[in-house]
Parts: sequence; structure tokens; C-alpha cells
Amino acid sequence: MSQHFDILPVIMNQTKTFTMISQGCRLNHAESAVIRQALNAKGLSEVGMEHDPDIVIVNTCTVTENGDKDTIRLVRKINRTCTQPAIALVGCQSQMQSQQLSDLQNVKWVIGNANKSQIAPIILNESKGIYVEKIASTPFSQGYSSFDPSHCRVNLKIQDGCDFYCSFCVIPFARGPARSRDWDDIMADAQGLCNMGVKEIVLTGINLGTYANQGHDFYDVLEALLRQSPSTRIRISSIEPTTVDTRLIELWQTYPNFCRYLHLPIQSGNDTILNKMRRRYTRSMYDDFITEIKRAVPNICIGTDVIVGFPGETDGLFEDTYQYLSRAPIDYFHVFRYSERTMAHSRKFPNSVPSADIQSRSQRLRDLHTQKWQAFMKAQSNTIQTVLFEQKKKGVWVGKTQQFVPVYTTSDRSLKNTLHPVKLVYEPSTLQMIGELV
Ligand code: SF4
Repeated sequence: MSQHFDILPVIMNQTKTFTMISQGCRLNHAESAVIRQALNAKGLSEVGMEHDPDIVIVNTCTVTENGDKDTIRLVRKINRTCTQPAIALVGCQSQMQSQQLSDLQNVKWVIGNANKSQIAPIILNESKGIYVEKIASTPFSQGYSSFDPSHCRVNLKIQDGCDFYCSFCVIPFARGPARSRDWDDIMADAQGLCNMGVKEIVLTGINLGTYANQGHDFYDVLEALLRQSPSTRIRISSIEPTTVDTRLIELWQTYPNFCRYLHLPIQSGNDTILNKMRRRYTRSMYDDFITEIKRAVPNICIGTDVIVGFPGETDGLFEDTYQYLSRAPIDYFHVFRYSERTMAHSRKFPNSVPSADIQSRSQRLRDLHTQKWQAFMKAQSNTIQTVLFEQKKKGVWVGKTQQFVPVYTTSDRSLKNTLHPVKLVYEPSTLQMIGELV
């Protein structure tokens, strides 16, 4: 029976095409790469939406209200662009809002996070339906390599879910409890990626620092990869404060392939708001940590996320955040407007902030971000950094330094997927970093 199930769809669907669209975070993109491989292995081929695919898969995000609205807009666009699409909505929003999503035009499958790894058999089985189950807390294996041929930088998923329940966040509901990828599965996948010539691996998860499997913690994963693949850069994606400590410094000092980059979401610079957000640190704890890292690791880039307009954020409390961020050793930030989510605890909080205030506060923070990022770029100017070149755009090669600074370089030879030492020159008129190959 299982043999019949595996073989028949390949024959029936060998000419079927699909388009994959990923919304949201780096983890979603990592999972999309795995889904692509699962579908390719079953004989489906990926095409752009302009080629009128048979199936369109949207890997959804529900972290903000805008993410939810984007899915609805996207489904409308797919229906306008494609002749007779069968649409699969997978991921976080599917986990949370399966019934509403299944009512959208031409949505054939709604597949939650627990069932994401089964997407190929579900799609090939072709029965319309909702495939959403409770997410277990057991360790997981991935089944396919993380390799993504469309990108030079590969996201390696090592963890999923979160048990922290910050009051504004629905991710623990959408992604389930914290769980870790099997240690041996990670090591084999990483080794395979290095053998394929991957130049940069980004460790990815929802709450990376809580990794625990077979007696190994996050530092064990990091150190094993840094040691086993000295010619591959290793980068950590966003990681929660309090889940990492100054042991990272030793790794930066020991391994030149450990990217000098740390994205540590602060969310607010005011202790009253941090407390209401149920974050597990105070501003001074956060500040002590990043100050120590900046002191010990020259040239590191530290970035953060900030939420603006959390309930009860008065002008004075916002000003406290603003003043802290102006003087903090933080080089860039992503600004998010507070978004009320149905399952989030903060939905019940009084004193919501008027949207005009959220708008003006966000703008002030975005301007501050621009100033700080330009200052960081200027400080990098006239230094020599190694750049991983990824693609040629309008005749110019574009790549990133370890600090994630975009660099633009002219060269007649192909630089794709190569690491090159480059002299950086900041160009204030275009706000761009120009790279001269050395
Ligand atoms: S740590 Fe907080 S913000 Fe991050 S995923 Fe968990 S609950 Fe959400």
C-alpha cells in the first residue's frame, strides 16, 4: 500500500509545476528550501509565477497583523496571475487561522507547522483539506539537506518553537514548544553543505540559544561547526538575550570564521515596558552584555529589534527607550509597530497607544537607525574585510561582509559564491559601501 502511495503520484504528477513563496522570518525561508527539495524529489519542478504553475505554496507568517493581511493579498494576486492554481497555505498563519484561510478562493490545502514536513505527500495525495495538528515537543530531524541553490548563504535550522511566552508574541502558539534538531542530523547536514562548497551557514531557529539535544547545548553546536568547517563562515541569526552569555566572546576570539555579527532583540529600552512584555532581562543587563561584547570583539556589528507602541508606552517611557538607543553600542535596529494579536496576553492590556503616536515614534526610531547605521558604515570605511559575493545586479557584484554590510564591487570576472578580501570605501552621496578587490 505504501509503495503504491509513493510511486503513483510521481507518475501522475511528473509534469506538475509549483511556485514557492516565503513570507516572514529566516526560519520560514530555511523550511521553504527543505520543502522545495521534498517536492523536487517527488518529480515536481519549480517555476516562477509568470509560468502559470499548477500549484502555488505560500509559507505564511503571523507575527504581525500585516503578515496576515499579506497572505490574503497574495492569494488574490495568485488568483489574478494564474489560470487555475491549487494553492497550499502552510506554516504559522495556517497553524493559527486554518478555517479562515481554507475559505479563500482556490486554497486547496491548509497545512500547519506540525504537518509541514508532510507537504509533499499531502499535495500529491490531492485531497482538499486542513492539515493542522498539535505540535509535539520532541526533538526532530529534517530528512533533507538545508541546501538552497538560489542562495549563497544557507540557513541551517537547528531549533524550533519557544517556551518563553513574551506577552506580545504568538510564536509559542504558532510554532509550539521549544525543541531541538537531532545533533547527528545537524552535524551530517552541515558537513554535507561544506562539501558542496557552501561559504556561509546561518544557524537558524525560533529561540536558538535554548538548543539542547543529546547533552549538547547551543555552544556545542556553534563550536563544532566553527571547528569542522574553517573555510565556511558561521553566522548566528537573531538570538534572545539571556540565552547567550560571554562564552561567545571566546569563540569570536578563537575562530576567524565566526561572523562578527550579533542580532539581539531588545524590544524596548525601558524597564517598565520590558517587564510588561515579560522579557527576562532589564535594560542594564542587556547593556552590560553588549558593552562587554563590543569591548572584547573589535569591529563587531550589533543589531536589535524594537517594538513601538506597546500598551502603556507613554511619551516619557518611549523617550527613555529612544535616549537609551541613541547612546547604546548598537549599530542598527529594525523597528516594528506593536500589533495586537488574538492569542497574545498583551491583548488584554489597557492604555493602547494611538496609531498617530506609533507612527511618529516609529519614524523617529527609523531616523535614528539611519544615523547609527551610517556611522557604522563610516567606521568600516578604509578597512579591509572579507566579502561573500552573491550576485551581479545591474553590472555590479553585490556581497556582504561578516558584519552584514552590503558591498558593491565592479569586476569582469565572476565573483559569485566567492570570498574576497576587499578594501571598503564608504560613498556618502549614495550611502553605499564600495569594495575594491585587494
Ligand atoms: S522569546 Fe519571546 S519574542 Fe521570541 S519567540 Fe519566544 S515568546 Fe516570541
